[in-house]
Amino acid sequence: MTARILVVDDIPANVRLLEVRLLAEYFEVLTATNGPDAIETCENGKVDVVLLDVMMPDMDGFEVCRRLKSDPATSHIPVVMITALDQVSDRVRGLEAGADDFLTKPVNDLQLMTRVKSLVRLKSLTDELRLRASTTRNIGIEELLSRNFASEDTTPKVLLIDERKSSVERIQKMLRDRADLDVSSDPHAGFFQAAETSYECVMISTAFADFDPLRLCSQLRSLDRTRFVPIILLAEEGEEERIIRGLELGINDYLMRPIDQQELTARLRTQVRRKRYNDQLRASVTQTIEMAVTDGLTGLHNRRYLDSHLQTLFDRAVARRRPLSVMITDLDRFKAINDAHGHDGGDEVLREFARRLRKNVRGIDLACRFGGEEFVVVMPDTEGAVAEKVAERIRAEIAQAPFAIGQDGKTIEVTVSVGVSSVLKGVDTVAALMKRADLALYEAKSGGRNRVVAKAA
Ligand code: GH3
Ligand code: MG
Ligand code: MG
Repeated sequence: MTARILVVDDIPANVRLLEVRLLAEYFEVLTATNGPDAIETCENGKVDVVLLDVMMPDMDGFEVCRRLKSDPATSHIPVVMITALDQVSDRVRGLEAGADDFLTKPVNDLQLMTRVKSLVRLKSLTDELRLRASTTRNIGIEELLSRNFASEDTTPKVLLIDERKSSVERIQKMLRDRADLDVSSDPHAGFFQAAETSYECVMISTAFADFDPLRLCSQLRSLDRTRFVPIILLAEEGEEERIIRGLELGINDYLMRPIDQQELTARLRTQVRRKRYNDQLRASVTQTIEMAVTDGLTGLHNRRYLDSHLQTLFDRAVARRRPLSVMITDLDRFKAINDAHGHDGGDEVLREFARRLRKNVRGIDLACRFGGEEFVVVMPDTEGAVAEKVAERIRAEIAQAPFAIGQDGKTIEVTVSVGVSSVLKGVDTVAALMKRADLALYEAKSGGRNRVVAKAA
């Protein structure tokens, strides 16, 4: 894993110290000795993680962090605060400024590497989502980023898995009003509960009498439904080795007992915020993909989808020696409808046509808007004779009931012509199949419209 780490410290010797250790692990290292320079470097892009000293003259680390986190262009870059003193108040201030993590000086080597590596991993996931989201134009990515976690005010749903009653009670008290907390005292039951409910964070105690808490972490990471849920480990003093193993297994954070209330709530908030951010990104990527293959006017699949999918359906049919048919439909004299009722009237007809088309094909059939007023239906497992019957049913469904236009009860007669073709045994191609359907459609048009023509061969 290679990544670019920005080290920020006003003392050059400190910068050098971290730089050497990071270079030894093959990270690329950038450096800055003051806040404004650090911010500029981040704005110029390509920084994967920032290691940020808290105590700097003029602009301190908290301020640098706050500025990075409030700018949509840099807010996704993970920031690790480096505090001189092992002071809870500093850590809490850092997390409150939006820091993703912190380390205390002198920086422990293993901690440095595990923290940096786990943040780099997280960042590359976020980057990929950002990239996928922004490759398609139609996406509110900037809006998403600048919304600045509007959903932050809703109480997060959290699961605590801990078998010690006194510890549970203490945490319940600390998180009262701050989290919607469920508790499971049994690790096996807790695992199933985590899988069944969508929690925004799972906190796992390390103190089980005879159960390995890391097993639970790895189970949660390998299950699809819990793969992305943040895990916070509640560890005991002296369990550093276990924490490091946990970080390697993909836990997101840990707290040492005795647990400090401010630190608990700040760390929980950081995890929930990041999860919500990534969830929003993931949802918008999914939505983008859907938009890319859907026709906006009718909600049917679009031509791009047909082009990529028809070949798959064709290959499958040939391999399984199953029949496959396609039909191309084209509305009759549609130009005249546009001329008489305007483009909006034409659009209404297209939407209603798509609705009737969808109603008359099976779930496994692929109905697409091919372009303009042409539609294509691909019918797997369907012989030509059956496809012809389906086409005839659709033609009749269009012709028999007039289409409503506008609000004032106006209706118009619409008809459609349809060409049908089927995969021929032996040599055939998608292009030839479509060509035959197109020729059939042409015959239907020249034969007088409002009819179905099927190409036997
Ligand atoms: P034919 O019976 O020979 O198919 O005649 P036609 O008028 O339907 O055929 P032609 O291909 O000449 O005209 C199709 C028209 O469809 C022309 C175009 O303006 C219109 N059209 C294409 N896309 C849309 C659309 O999204 N909305 C609307 N309202 N009209 C569209
Ligand atoms: Mg046409
Ligand atoms: Mg037409």
